[in-house]
Amino acid sequence: MRWLSSSPLSLFSNDLAIDLGTANSLVFCKGLGIVVREPSIIAVNRKTGGVVAVGDPAKAMLGRTPSNIILIRPLKDGVIADIEYTEKMLASFIKRAHKRSVGVRPRIAIGVSSEITQVEKRAVRDSATNAKAAEVYLVEQSMMAAIGAGLPISEPTGSMVLDIGGGTSDVAVISMAGIVCSKMVRVAGNQMDEAVSQYIKRKYNLLVGERTAEEIKIKIGSAFPLDVERTMEIKGRDLVEGIPKSITISDKEIREALAEPIAAIIEAVRTVLDQTPPELAADLVDRGIVLTGGGALLEGLDTRLREEIGLPVSIADEPLTSAVMGTGKVLADFDLLARVSLGG
Ligand code: ADP
Ligand code: MG
Repeated sequence: MRWLSSSPLSLFSNDLAIDLGTANSLVFCKGLGIVVREPSIIAVNRKTGGVVAVGDPAKAMLGRTPSNIILIRPLKDGVIADIEYTEKMLASFIKRAHKRSVGVRPRIAIGVSSEITQVEKRAVRDSATNAKAAEVYLVEQSMMAAIGAGLPISEPTGSMVLDIGGGTSDVAVISMAGIVCSKMVRVAGNQMDEAVSQYIKRKYNLLVGERTAEEIKIKIGSAFPLDVERTMEIKGRDLVEGIPKSITISDKEIREALAEPIAAIIEAVRTVLDQTPPELAADLVDRGIVLTGGGALLEGLDTRLREEIGLPVSIADEPLTSAVMGTGKVLADFDLLARVSLGG
């Protein structure tokens, strides 16, 4: 099949790599780079079921929707919570990517959760086929993230990747293009946001929205004490008096708020280390763990993991895009694509 990649047709075909994340979806187009980078949210008319907006315009409606519109995160906890809207979202992103590309039916590689079911696999394949894909390949997101982070996944040496996304954190040990052991926990960025808003509610009787909680986490959140204290003024609604109120909150408080979700993620890493065969575990002593996904950007998470696990820890160059870039790389290497893609 090698001739496929060098056939004259492929000169005109813009193969696509898609990362269907719980928080963000990205599309990489061969020759063009990343052409779609949008939140995995869809706004739907409650009465008709019709799609009102997909991606950025839908996220902008968070917390501000009138009663006739609902916002759906179809991939919320790493499983495809809503197949119909996942298909619609995927179709919309592929259509956007097509607008920027020229030519014929592309090959499409899609990164999916390790927990995907047969029915969900078929739904993802069908929506890509309906969107005029010539061939569809499904690849596990952990594998994509590892390739994107530049790990030598094909070699007979162990590499560990921890991908902290929106709805799930995935830890995997990879060797010879296969996942040797792995664990997925439904604790990641969204649960951190939730922990922040719960903390503020308990301590200050203040209600903050999902977007504000995320902003606080990104601006002053950390997993290890900072050198310089950070504070932030936040606004929300007072639970007792029902009026808008503002308070100032510190990095130390947010660290406290994040303690639980972070402990759960570290526990997942420990579990996988326990299951790792000794030879590969020995490789990890030298090669360490690579962090990827948006959660890898949480301040001090690398230091914290290093302290607790005692292995070297590094952060992928571009944690938010490494999975889709990894899939892009795989598209250019047909042998590798065949080895890492999932059947079914
Ligand atoms: P997914 O692959 O599940 O779509 P992403 O890898 O895109 O998820 O990561 C999204 C998550 O990363 C969100 O919860 C977001 O709040 C979080 N995130 C993004 N930037 C930062 C940051 N600087 N610090 C902490 N978390 C971050
Ligand atoms: Mg991801």
